[in-house]
This record gives sequence, structure tokens and C-alpha cells, in this order.
Amino acid sequence: MSYVNMEKILKDARKGGYAVGAFNIVNQMTAKAAVEAAEELSCPIILQTSVKTVKQFGIEEMMQFLKPIVGNAKVDVAVHLDHSTDVDFTIACIDGGWSSVMYDGSKMPLPENIANTKKIVEAAHAKDVTVEGELGAIVGVEDDIVVDEDQSALANPEDCKVYLEETKIDAFAPAIGTAHGVYKGEVKIDYDLFENINSFSPCPLVLHGGTGLSTGTFKRLISLGAAKVNISTAIKIAYCGGMRDYTKLRPDENDPLKLDAFVKDKVKEVVRNHITLFSLLED
Ligand SMILES: [Zn+2]
Repeated sequence: MSYVNMEKILKDARKGGYAVGAFNIVNQMTAKAAVEAAEELSCPIILQTSVKTVKQFGIEEMMQFLKPIVGNAKVDVAVHLDHSTDVDFTIACIDGGWSSVMYDGSKMPLPENIANTKKIVEAAHAKDVTVEGELGAIVGVEDDIVVDEDQSALANPEDCKVYLEETKIDAFAPAIGTAHGVYKGEVKIDYDLFENINSFSPCPLVLHGGTGLSTGTFKRLISLGAAKVNISTAIKIAYCGGMRDYTKLRPDENDPLKLDAFVKDKVKEVVRNHITLFSLLED
């Protein structure tokens, strides 16, 4: 078991009819919590880093603390850059040791998105790094990329065919009505669109905006072909909620290690629950 890109783990997932969880980690502790949860369940995992998180540490420093965690893991682990809109930064992460990257040109006109994605794919594949792409607009806020609800556009199947054929990406995130952040009101997912895109897509499909979807929705989308499911907001809630709970429980204690251990357990529990669901371990 080792540090891998997304190719084999997503191919296996697609074939096996389950999904691999991709969790947005924010530091060493959350990365360890996520990997330990995956190890306990003997399932592969994708550690995702937002651009904002990578910039906070710097590419080199972040990879330095991630390398031993993923290198010593007892399961397959990929380290994936989430929603990068900057070609140069994406290539810098490919060179910096990420095993997978998402280039998000979904706000651009299709020809420009294709041209940029091709550049990324060329740089990535030369280093055995996988690439995820997106079409349509996934509403909500992810890493300072704001998409208002009225701007929401579901992926167009004809555009998807052209995009997939031209770019040769390894994983594809079409907008089907899921949203980043916390859902307000009813979630309107176009299941038929998702099924249709999966029927012609040469690569596995990715579900963004996983936090807050019901168990039934997850299972339905996985049965229709979702091979990677992104979970970011639930990790943030577990992390910050864990801190609040601990300091409320022990207002007079000042022990960072105990606080960290408590928060880590909370993060681990969220990861474990999602992996169990996505891997269909309880079915
Ligand atoms: Zn996303």
C-alpha cells in the first residue's frame, strides 16, 4: 500500500460500484485523522487540499508533512489539489509532489477551459499525476470561489463529450445540482443527467458538495456511477465544533495535546462514517 494517484483507486471503485471519499484536510492533524480512519476500515482514501490551505503552508512545507503520513499508510492514499483555477499554481503542485490535481476552468468559455486543461494534463501525465476537471457550475462557496445560485448551470452533455474527448482527464465532475457549503432548502439533483454522463464518460465521475446529502442520495448517486465523493464542510464542522465542545467541557484546562486528541477523534469519526457509507461496507 502506498502513495498513489487516483487512477487505480477510482477505476476499482467504478468497477466495484462503490465510491472513494476525498476529504479536505487542513493540516497535519486532520491528514492523520483521515488516514487512520481509512486504515481502520482498510479502504483507500484521497486527501484533498484546497488552494487556500496549500498557500497557507506553502507547497514545499505542506508536502513535507504530508509525505510521511501518506508514505507510511497501510492503505492506498492519493493527495489531490482541489479546485485550482490557476494553471501555474496547479503545475507547481504537480512538480511539488501532489499525486493528483483538479483544474477548475468551469467558469471559462469551453474552448479556453479545454486549452488550459490540456496543458495541465500534459504536465501531470508526464509525472504520473492524475487530473480532475469540471463542467457546469457547482453553486456555493469553495475556497473563495463563489458561485451564486442564479449562476448555477448544470453540465451540458454535448459539452461534456467534447471536453472529455479533447482533454483526456482522469476524473470528471459535472455539475448536477449539488452545492458547496451547507445546503439551504431542498437539494435539486438531476439524477438522469448524472446517469447519462456516466454512460459515455471514459473516466470515473466525481461528486462535489457531498456534505449534507442524505444517505439515500449518496447511495443513489454512487449506484449511478459516482466513484469519488468530496467531503469538505463536514470536516470543518467536526474540527471547529470539536474545539468548541472541548473548551466548553474543560474551560479551565490548557492542554493543547488533549484538545488536539479530542478534535482529531471528531474528525476521524466523520471520515470513518463517510467511508463506511461510500464503500457500502454496511450493505
Ligand atoms: Zn468542489
